[in-house]
Amino acid sequence: MKTVLVAGGAGYIGSHMVAHLVENGYRVIVADNLSTGHRDAVKDVPLYVGDIRDGAFLDRIFSENSIDGVINFAACSLVGESVKKPLKYYANNVMGSVSMLDAMRRHGIGYIVFSSTAATYGEPEKQPIEEQDRTDPTNPYGATKLAIEGMLKWCEKAYGIRYAALRYFNAAGAAPEKGIGEDHAPETHLIPIVLAAALGKRSHIGIFGQDYPTPDGTCIRDYIHVKDLARAHLLALLHLEKTGESGIFNLGSGTGYSVKEIVETARRITGRPIPEKIEPRRPGDPSVLIAANKKAAEVLGFTPQLGLDAIIADAWAWHSSHPEGFGDRV
Ligand code: UDP
Repeated sequence: MKTVLVAGGAGYIGSHMVAHLVENGYRVIVADNLSTGHRDAVKDVPLYVGDIRDGAFLDRIFSENSIDGVINFAACSLVGESVKKPLKYYANNVMGSVSMLDAMRRHGIGYIVFSSTAATYGEPEKQPIEEQDRTDPTNPYGATKLAIEGMLKWCEKAYGIRYAALRYFNAAGAAPEKGIGEDHAPETHLIPIVLAAALGKRSHIGIFGQDYPTPDGTCIRDYIHVKDLARAHLLALLHLEKTGESGIFNLGSGTGYSVKEIVETARRITGRPIPEKIEPRRPGDPSVLIAANKKAAEVLGFTPQLGLDAIIADAWAWHSSHPEGFGDRV
């Protein structure tokens, strides 16, 4: 594996992937339509600006570069928006993957690592969640990712394209030393919102529900550092190349933290007060999501190295030094 195409490489997780590949001596090509990504998140690698649903665009990339494998992050990823605009999610996510797999077939590319999600499980039947547990998404975002996992399985049988589908739990953190971090508009994720409150950019953090069946009544999630996620993707790509064995893997820490624990940790790390207000539940939020991460450890050799303090400290270093994110909002 020498040259890797990172689709969606100008986005949050994609840009950390690009940095990790470059650091490890890979040649990286980025494809991104910059709808949510940032040009400044990928400064030192070739960037093709375009939509992966455009077959001619992908043909150009695959013809101009000798690509060994693909990592596909290009997708819409907001749960709430997906409920309101399901067709946008099917059109972007499913059609984008159809187009990418078809281009890979045309150009004889053998390996893809695909961004999937814990949202494929829906309301889990047990904790921690294992890869073979029931998948029954409760929103179109998770449904599109599950549909693509199915498509990957059939494309492997028909065209021999090997895949790793990585079901992320809660991605968080940043790589402040590389000048990259999370910059979404609108921001919906807990940790960046808590840190915006620490910076005084928001008056408080609204806690969505305090009546869940958890020890402090707030939802529990499994947070994984975006740098750990990037490491896992490269391990998955190398695993595919070495063994030719496709698979689906959870990527999580195996440890859950409640919303209140996140806010408390952020207060300790930032030294700022961070006011909180209890608000109504957010529709569609399961009470607890924790990954069983044994399969990724055993098969890919991946174990997360960075815990919650490192996640929040890195995110804080990024947000406090980049209060306007990449500063490219019009
Ligand atoms: N959350 C919250 N207030 C916010 C944003 C999120 O209480 O302003 C909660 C949310 O209900 C969930 C957890 O924080 O229980 C993580 O939410 P996030 O949107 O970061 O990730 P998700 O788990 O939805 O992928």
